[in-house]
Order: sequence, then structure tokens, then C-alpha cells
Amino acid sequence: ELSHDVYHSARVRQAAPKRALRIAVMSREDNYSTRRLVEAGEARGHSVEVIDTTRCYMTINALAPEVHYDGQRLPRYDAVIPRIGASITPYGTAVIRQFETIGTYCINGSAGITASRDKLHAHQVLARHKIGMPTTAFAASPKDTSNLIGLVGGAPLIVKLLESTQGKGVVLAETTKAAESVISAFRGLRANFLVQHFIKEAAGEDVRCLVIGGKVVAAMKRTGADGDFRSNLHQGGQASIARITKPEREAAVRAAKAFGLNMAGVDLLRSDDGPKVLEVNSSPGFEGIERATGKDLVGKLYDEIEQRVRPGPVPRRKR
Ligand code: ADP
Repeated sequence: ELSHDVYHSARVRQAAPKRALRIAVMSREDNYSTRRLVEAGEARGHSVEVIDTTRCYMTINALAPEVHYDGQRLPRYDAVIPRIGASITPYGTAVIRQFETIGTYCINGSAGITASRDKLHAHQVLARHKIGMPTTAFAASPKDTSNLIGLVGGAPLIVKLLESTQGKGVVLAETTKAAESVISAFRGLRANFLVQHFIKEAAGEDVRCLVIGGKVVAAMKRTGADGDFRSNLHQGGQASIARITKPEREAAVRAAKAFGLNMAGVDLLRSDDGPKVLEVNSSPGFEGIERATGKDLVGKLYDEIEQRVRPGPVPRRKR
């Protein structure tokens, strides 16, 4: 169970007086988001170190759990900003767990990252919190294919690989025949997939809400390339600033909270029946949304970290 109590108690904490923090960005990529995190953090007087997650190693014991890097023990950071790529989720979350054990503040926790990365698990968490999402079905046995199609309301429907990112493994099956052949092809490849009600009225658009510290700090609308039902920017989609409704705002905030994520990109579709959450991303990119909205969103993240991290004890002796 993800810890909501921790979330709530931390929210009421008083704003801490400003002091320089030692912050680690766990990232393997030198991209816009990583560079912005370093520049914006340093501009606020913090020390920001980028550490390659896969190069961290650990000693796990009861007395002094430690994280090591390049032959040295890593210092005690005030905060860790995880930016864990999908391909290294298990190892990356193990490193975050180690930081959590040491007592380091992690803007996103390992449990929330793990749950949100697994599409099946993520849908179950959303459902448990009664957050709107497209009706989703999943089966392990091929005998149940036609039933599966019926469960989501028949064709047209969406078939989605569980490992899909950037819209690469998402297929729209317009007819029952098409759905059956896509499902049988995926089964033949032993791929894991889910079947989902197609929200036609979304018309190739989705809304990305950036939630930081329990608030939507920015929202952008993504419109798919002509004729594509997918709105991913990686698939040629276009971004523009979005005005969101109160139910959309609430769905985004509750979705981030369901996973205990203090920084999340929540993607939702606009259906006739209210917002439907598609995905909660624990490493949301800042480039598209800062460009689309013209806002300093990385700054919002540092506001949150500065508020959450209590001033440390004044060191009495040299370390
Ligand atoms: P990925 O994780 O690979 O990006 P998504 O689930 O986010 O996969 O889907 C990619 C895009 O496809 C979404 O941004 C949305 O535009 C479209 N899409 C996904 N699921 C549905 C659905 N059930 N109904 C309508 N459009 C969908």
C-alpha cells in the first residue's frame, strides 16, 4: 500500500527557511530536463549533482545502508530527484529504495514509480481510488479473446502493449475482425497487452497535466498528427497550452496522489463522460510543457523541494 499518511503529514509542514541544499538528480541522460534541473537548482544556490543511476551500487545492511559511486560513498543528499528511464525501472527503484532507507527525501518514491510504470498495476491503483479511466480488460489465456472484446464494449477498441512508451505499442482496431487479428498476432509474439475502450470523442487529443506538490502547475493539450488517434509528441503531435476544467484538475491531482508522486505528468482524455486518466508518468519531461506554457516549471519543483526539506542540523564537527 502506498503511504498517503506520509504525503499528508509532509504537506502541512511549515515553509522552511532558505538554505543551500545538496541535491542529486538521478539520470542517465543529458537532455533538456536534466540540464534545466541543474541550472535552475544552481541558480537558487543549491548544489546539484547528476548521478547515473546504473553506476550506483549499494551496501545493504541493517546498520549503515550506503550508496556508492565511482569508488566512493555518496554524500548524504538533502533531496533526490529521480528521473528513471523505463528500461531500468527495477534497478533504478532499488537505488531509490536505498536512499529512502537512509532517510533521504526523494521527490518521487520507489513504490509510486514502480506501480505507475506497470500499466496493469497502474490501472488497478486508479480504479481503487475511483479515478475515471477508459474501461480496461486483460486476460492471460487465448480462450478468452472474444469475451475480452465484449468486456470493453466491442470494436472499435484499443489494444496496448504493456511495455509501450511514446505511443509505440498502441493500436486502434476499428472492427471486431481487426481486433481479433491484432490480439492473435500479439499472443503469437507472446506479448503482454491490455484491451481498452476507445474514447473516440477525444479525437486524437489528450491533456498532459503537470502535478507538483499536489497542484496542477501547468497543462498542455497535445494534438496528434493528421489522421493519428495518438497524441504523443514522439508521434508527431503538437502541443499548446490548455485550460482545464475543475473535474480535470481534480482527476490529475488525485491520480498523482494515488501513487504518492510529488512530481507527475498525468495524461487524460476528454470523454463525454468526464476526464479519463490514461497514464501517470513519474519522470515527466519539462521541455514540451515549459515551451508550450512559457512557465518556469522546474522552479515550481524547487519551490516544493525547498518547502519539504527541513533545515538540517548545524554540523558541530567537520565530516
Ligand atoms: P504510451 O504509454 O505508449 O504513450 P498511451 O496509453 O499514453 O501509450 O497512448 C498513446 C496515445 O494514444 C494517447 O496519448 C492517446 O492520444 C491515444 N490513446 C490511448 N488510449 C486511448 C483510448 N483508450 N482511447 C482513445 N485514445 C487513446
